[in-house]
Amino acid sequence: MLSCYHQMHQETVLADQINELVHTFAGNPLDRAEALRRDETALLEMRRHPGALFLPFNNLRVGVKTAADNSQQLNWITPNSLDPAACEEVIFLGLDNGQPRFAVALTTTESGDFADCRMLAGQLPVADSGILAQARAQLDWHKRNPFCAQCGTTTHPARGGQIRRCDRCDKHTFPRTDPVAIMLIIDKPGGDRCLLGRPHGRIAINNFYTALAGFLDQGESLEEAVRREVWEEAGIRVGHVHYHSSQPWPFPSQLMIGCHGIAATQDINFDTVEMADVRWFNKAEVARAVAEENSELRIPGNLAIAHHLIRTWIEGDVEL
Ligand SMILES: [Zn+2]
Repeated sequence: MLSCYHQMHQETVLADQINELVHTFAGNPLDRAEALRRDETALLEMRRHPGALFLPFNNLRVGVKTAADNSQQLNWITPNSLDPAACEEVIFLGLDNGQPRFAVALTTTESGDFADCRMLAGQLPVADSGILAQARAQLDWHKRNPFCAQCGTTTHPARGGQIRRCDRCDKHTFPRTDPVAIMLIIDKPGGDRCLLGRPHGRIAINNFYTALAGFLDQGESLEEAVRREVWEEAGIRVGHVHYHSSQPWPFPSQLMIGCHGIAATQDINFDTVEMADVRWFNKAEVARAVAEENSELRIPGNLAIAHHLIRTWIEGDVEL
């Protein structure tokens, strides 16, 4: 099953259709209803709305139910099935055609089965994976940020969970999203080789290779981050960089920013502390890995943006 689709924004006022790749964990269709979030009374009323639904979590695992075709689906529950004593945190996700949607962290598992979000995501429609990403990232952030970073006082959620507020110094803290550059480097324009690496420890399979990646540094553009990371990890200089697409990654809260880049040098001198191996691979062997027909090389599955950076290159669509 394809976990991505090309989303047509039919509601746009633009004459041109926007035809873009929507990765797993993007594609969230909810209206995040910014204006409603500032109205505490409206937020409380929405919790009791007859059309309200809650997505339960326990220890960051999400509530699931099994459909007739044996697939796993998100297990939205009604306000009446919620035990208030078991609700640790409730956040307002947004509106689904005017109907309020919440995520709730529960202290018990009495409301049903729970699944690991990462394992589940590939089985879900991309819209549901987007809702899952918003809910998981935000619940996790609340759990890990109980105190004010400025004065150390206990903070409280506000705006339906979009911020935390300190009662003592009135500091508002917003959930952070950490940008990560992830890049497929090609040996030359229209080139037949790409650069893939195998980080230490992440996966214990010695034929698993993926695109290089790293967090953006402070005071650094995306293009600069791509060039720095490839230089640090592989010892390769990069020239042109072209943005491809981005993917929310809620483990805990990254935005993967996918790029292609053209190598300005060819000799690899990789960082042995971070990387177990970095190599040039030719298009034929990578194409067989994309098709899962190469026993010598495995690459990430289509849940991951790296897969789509590689696939775009195989299909000859790199805009460089
Ligand atoms: Zn404070």
